[in-house]
Amino acid sequence: MKIKILGCFGAEMPGYRTTCFKIDDSTLVDAGAITSVLDHHEQIGIRNILVTHAHLDHVKDIPLLADNVIGNISQPVNIISSAEVIAALKEHLLNDKIWPDFTKIPTMENPVLRYREIELETPFKVNNLTVTAVRVNHTVPAVGYIISDDENSFAISGDTASTGRFWELTNETDRIKAVFVETSFPNSMNELAIMSGHLTPEMMNEELKKLNSNDIPIYLYHLKPKFMDVLRDEIASIDDFDISILEQDKTY
Ligand SMILES: [Zn+2]
Ligand SMILES: [Zn+2]
Repeated sequence: MKIKILGCFGAEMPGYRTTCFKIDDSTLVDAGAITSVLDHHEQIGIRNILVTHAHLDHVKDIPLLADNVIGNISQPVNIISSAEVIAALKEHLLNDKIWPDFTKIPTMENPVLRYREIELETPFKVNNLTVTAVRVNHTVPAVGYIISDDENSFAISGDTASTGRFWELTNETDRIKAVFVETSFPNSMNELAIMSGHLTPEMMNEELKKLNSNDIPIYLYHLKPKFMDVLRDEIASIDDFDISILEQDKTY
């Protein structure tokens, strides 16, 4: 499994794109950085988008992708998430007001986008991947994902404050090769982190103690670009775990 990091930050600024991970050629986790990164041919190749939650920094390029690939694809792009997340996208984004409802365009029978609702904690298939969504703790309904192919598994926390089941299911998964964990605000902004459903480095360190193993490579993402320097220092001071900051544009 190859994971290309199209975007991995908690806000957008020049050089810093919002969350979007490409797994192999046709599956994305979140849609914060598609149309400014992938060329038209690569955009046409996107077949599935696993959405963690409906916040704009995670869905903003779904409408723009739909506009770019209309007329070029023979099957709809699957927008995959929990029922609550899909309800929010229908009502507030692709609602014929903010943007056209591309699940009816160009025709009802063969539209550009198709919603696929999945059950929490019930594994489902996306091409050769087996995916499990698990509830995490954010200000809106949100999930993390545990994703496996025939050889390896990795877990993505999504946006979350302190959470439980995500870590339990990660512990139960075989061959976990990496865990991507959000860390948004510096330690001094602990109150804002709690209020907005995010983690600081200290809070993230507490979360990692829920893992059964200290050896799993941990990759942090969703850092707020304007706090990068202080976040790097605070993260570097944690030495009980194998922690790196996820690198934009790198393939893992
Ligand atoms: Zn976010
Ligand atoms: Zn969010």
